Amino acid sequence: MRIILLGPPGAGKGTQAKRLTDKYGIPQLSTGDMLRAAVAAGSETGLRAKAVMDAGGLVSDAIVNQIVADRIREADCSKGFILDGYPRTVPQAVAFAENMKASGLRLDAVIELKVDEEALVGRMERRVAETVAAGGTVRADDNPESFRKRLAEYREKTAPLSAHYQKEGQLVVLDGMAEMDAVTDAIGQVLEKA
Ligand code: ADP
Repeated sequence: MRIILLGPPGAGKGTQAKRLTDKYGIPQLSTGDMLRAAVAAGSETGLRAKAVMDAGGLVSDAIVNQIVADRIREADCSKGFILDGYPRTVPQAVAFAENMKASGLRLDAVIELKVDEEALVGRMERRVAETVAAGGTVRADDNPESFRKRLAEYREKTAPLSAHYQKEGQLVVLDGMAEMDAVTDAIGQVLEKA
C-alpha cells in the first residue's frame, strides 16, 4: 500500500498516518520528522534546512526529493509506505512520480484532508499546550508567526497539488473536520477500494 496524505499543517495527517502504520504495518514517512532528525543530528542537510524550517518556509525540492528517494528504497518500505508532508510542491510530485516509475512502483491513493483554515491556528495552539503540559519540547516553527508563514506556503505551493492529482485521477478528498475516528474510518474505506 503506497499512500500520500495531503492537507495543511494541523489537518491531522500525522495522527492518521500513525494509525495507518499500526493497521497496515507500513512506515510513516514524514519529511518534517526526517528533516528535524537531520537538524538534531547536525548533518549538512540539517544545517542547511534549519533556518528555513524555523521560519516556516519550504526546504528546497532537491533536498527533500533525495531524502525520500533514498528512504523508499529501504527494506521496511518494501510493502509500502505512508507519505506525510511530501510531496509539497508540484515539482516534488513530478519528481516523485518519476522516482516511483523508475522503481516500477505505483501509488494506491492520494488522500486530502480538508480543514477550515480558522480551525488550524487553534489546533496548533492546542498541540503546543499539550506538548508543554507533557514536558516536551515545542517545535521551533509552532509559533504564530511561523505558522502563518506555513499556511501561506501551503496555500501557494501545496494546495495546487489537489488539482494535479485530480487530473491524474488519483485524488480523494475527505472531511478533516470530522472526529478523528470518523476520519480514520473514511480513510479505511478509501483504501479498501484502492
Ligand atoms: P506541518 O505540520 O507544517 O505540515 P511538517 O512536520 O510536515 O509540518 O514540516 C515542517 C517543516 O519541514 C516545513 O514547514 C518545511 O520547512 C519542512 N518540510 C517538510 N516537508 C517538506 C517538503 N516536502 N518540502 C519542503 N519542505 C518540507
